This record gives sequence, structure tokens and C-alpha cells, in this order.
Amino acid sequence: MSEEIFKKVVSHAKEYGFVFPSSEIYEGLGAVYDYGQNGVELKNNLRQYWWKSMVQLHENIVGLDAAIFMHPKTWKASGHIDGFSDPMIDNKDSKKRYRADQLLEDKIERYQKDGKAQKAADLQQAMDAALLDNNLEAMKQLIVDHEIVCPVSGTRNWTDVRQFNLMFSTEMGAMAGAEDNKVYLRPETAQGIFVNFLNVQKTGRMKVPFGIAQTGKAFRNEIIARQFIMRMREFEQMEMQFFVRPGTQQTWYAYWKEARMKWHHKLGFGAEKYRFHDHVKLAHYADAAVDIEFDFPFGFKEMEGIHSRTDFDLKNHSELSGKKLQYFDAELDENGKAYGNYIPYVVETSIGLDRLFLATLCAAFKEEQVGEGEQKETRTVLSLPAALAPVKLAIFPLTKKDGLPELAREIMDKLKYEFNCFYEEKDAIGKRYRRQDAIGTPFCITIDHESLTTQTVTIRHRDTMVQERIAIADIQQLVQNACSWKTLLD
Ligand code: ATP
Repeated sequence: MSEEIFKKVVSHAKEYGFVFPSSEIYEGLGAVYDYGQNGVELKNNLRQYWWKSMVQLHENIVGLDAAIFMHPKTWKASGHIDGFSDPMIDNKDSKKRYRADQLLEDKIERYQKDGKAQKAADLQQAMDAALLDNNLEAMKQLIVDHEIVCPVSGTRNWTDVRQFNLMFSTEMGAMAGAEDNKVYLRPETAQGIFVNFLNVQKTGRMKVPFGIAQTGKAFRNEIIARQFIMRMREFEQMEMQFFVRPGTQQTWYAYWKEARMKWHHKLGFGAEKYRFHDHVKLAHYADAAVDIEFDFPFGFKEMEGIHSRTDFDLKNHSELSGKKLQYFDAELDENGKAYGNYIPYVVETSIGLDRLFLATLCAAFKEEQVGEGEQKETRTVLSLPAALAPVKLAIFPLTKKDGLPELAREIMDKLKYEFNCFYEEKDAIGKRYRRQDAIGTPFCITIDHESLTTQTVTIRHRDTMVQERIAIADIQQLVQNACSWKTLLD
């Protein structure tokens, strides 16, 4: 059932200009996608929702837009050159490559579905232990012992498990081939924040605790790409690094955990769609980590990570660059002594914009039975929060003549500066309504003959489908109130 819904969401995303496969005329490119005319609006709005909540509403958080290319030493310091890899395994018959941990996870799910709870728990425990020890042989043994077969060839003819680095590299400058010219496409945006820590702290005269927020592209050569825009090779992150006094990180970790969950709940899709998932295996830089998972049609999956990253990154960048990435804290401790110089600890919130986009589409997508008797039909509607909708107001003259288009254009020309409007004359009004429902437009107005004499229009509400007559002069305020960022941010 859920799989069916997911299929519908994916084809809806394509049909209504939200998401297209990249370079589709050439059969697409694995796990790379383009956002269409409605997708780009929704994505921009989701990004804005995050940015406003982080930067605009926090006096102690500022923004940054660092470059995608960074000095190669960045990735040495961050641990990505040595440690940013996934365990992979190939099937020799199908020549297909898999993530070993995902094969095991799929098997655990299968055991659970078949009612073999004990077997599932045992395998989970063994896999966690193998991951924790980075024990690739043990992982291979689990795949053998649990008789996992390749979904394509159906055989158990596996290679050994190997580590596969997920960073894309390319060459900078004219001299191809020289190892010195190798640069990476950033696998996370966070490092752009760390290397700018002093720049921002000094020029912005920031005082700990303070945060730096950034949104931007990140690249990972994922071994297998699955589930549409869930796991992409080029994706967008929205990250915030919060610099705190050492020893206070647990308090701030708890603070951001709660704040971020609240932010998700504000979207109004239902609190039961979200849950926390504590990490068993902590990343090399973390002293605590939790995911916020969303109930996608294919199950609960990570959408955001909140990590207590200690002073790992700043310390390593200090060592490798020879620059002191420190902060002087003039505040006094309980003994009346200044805290003095230290490397701040960091609590990070990191969310994938594309996963948020997918969660939003899945949660907002509805098929409803409307009408009675012969008129009965299914309407597809995206119940997006009004502030996020790609189009806020659709403007329809009832007919193409009698001066109705002229009045409709007049309204459009006044309101288009305030919010995204869409004008359409073609087809029956009912059809036009349906097309707007499908992209989540909260309001449609129809200009009819009465409009010419009374200066009123019919406004139709997306969710209730209620229609009412209002003065042309009141449209702007009504739409602005309903679509205000305050409805989400307050
Ligand atoms: P996963 O376990 O799913 O691979 P991760 O734990 O490696 O994710 P992080 O490194 O914590 O992810 O990245 C932070 C966020 O970036 C994730 O919560 C997710 O929303 C997003 N993200 C990570 N990898 C991808 C990807 N390949 N495609 C889309 N979004 C991604």
C-alpha cells in the first residue's frame, strides 16, 4: 500500500513539474535529479523556512556561503580522506555493488516481517558490533551465514567486503594528473563553516555561544542510490554549527534536539510522523548523536542529524593549518576567573533539503473522493502549508471575453509583486481548480461578470473547497495573512 503511494508521489512529482531525472533525454544519470518549475519554488520556500528560523530569529546565529571547492587539506583534517567510506560488496555474477550494511539491514527487516524477532535482534547486534569494530571480515561472514543472496542474480557468489571512499575528486588548474592538483567536491557543507570560524567570529564580533548557518550543495558517490531523491549523489544540505564553551555541549545538544523537533512539528503533518533515533556507532568526531527520522512511505528514515562534534574539527584544522582557531572568553567562571582561551565545542544540526522536500511531498499528497453521484471523482491535492506553496494565488477570468481578462490582469499586475501568482484563461474553472490543487495552491480567484460591477471576486480555498465572495481590495491581505511566515515560525 505504502509502496503504491510512494510510486504515485514520484510520478506526481514529475507530472506537475516538481522533480525530473537529470538529463532525462539521455536516459538520466544515476541518483541525480533536477527540480522543475514548481519544485524549485517549494525547495526555495523550504530553504527559507530553515534560514529564517535559524538566522533571522536567532540574534546569535549568522549565515555563510562558502565555496564548494576547498583546500585539499580540509578533508585530511576533517577525517574524510581516511574515514569517509562505506563497506561495499560486489556480487560476482550480476556485477552489482551493494553496501554491506544495507544488505544486512534488509535481511533484518525480512526477519522482522516473517515474525523472526529473535533472529532479527541477533543479527542487528552482530552487525552493530562489526560496524563498531570496522570489522569487514565479520560483515562478510554475516552475509554468508545468513545466506543473503543478490537481489539481481539470486546467487551468493560474493567478493570480500571493502571500504569505498564516497568523495568525488577532480583536478584544479591546467596540469592534469598531478596529485597536488586534486581537489574534492565537498561531501558536507560543515567544513566551510569550520575553516571560516575565525573570520566570522572576529568580523561579526560574535560571542560564544554563537552559530554559523549555511545551505548548499554536497556530493557523495553513494554506492547504491535508492528511493528517488532520498539518496542522491548531488544533494543540498542545511547545516548549522553552534560553537559553545567546553563542558556545556550536553545542554546545547539537548536544546537543539528539542528546537529542531519543534521546527518539524510546526509543518503540521502530525507529530507521529517523526521520531528520534540515537546513534549506536558514533562518527569519529562525535560524543553524542541523534537522528530525526521521518515516516516516509517506505518506513522511518533519517532526515536530520544532530551531532555533538566536540572540538574535533577546529582542533584538527588548527593543527594542520598552524592557525590558532581559538576563542577568548572574557566571562568569569564561578571563581571569578575569566574562562580565557579555548577551542570551542560544537553542536551541529544537519538536514538534507532534498529529504525534507521528499517528506513534505509525501505528507502533503492526498487523494480525496469528492462530489456526489455522477459528479463523484478523485481529487489529488497537495495540502502544503500555505507559506510553502509554489503558487499562492491563481487568477482565473471566467471567460476570455467581456473585459474579464482585462480585470483579471489588472489584479495580477498589482499582486504579483507581493507573492507568486499564476494566471490562466484556458479550460473550465473546475479543471483549472484541479490543476492548482495538484500543486498545492492555497487560493484561486475567479473573475466573473459580477466582478465588473461590484469589484468582488469568488475566492476558493484549497483544503475546504469553500468558495466565498470577497472584495478585490481585500484579496491581498487575506492571502498575505494566510501565507505569512509567521504561521510557521511563531
Ligand atoms: P545516511 O546514513 O542516510 O547516509 P548520513 O548519516 O551519512 O546519512 P549526514 O552525514 O549526517 O548523513 O548528513 C546530514 C543530512 O544530509 C542527512 O540527515 C540527510 O538528510 C542528508 N543526506 C546525506 N546524504 C544524502 C544523500 N546521499 N542524498 C540526500 N540527502 C543526504
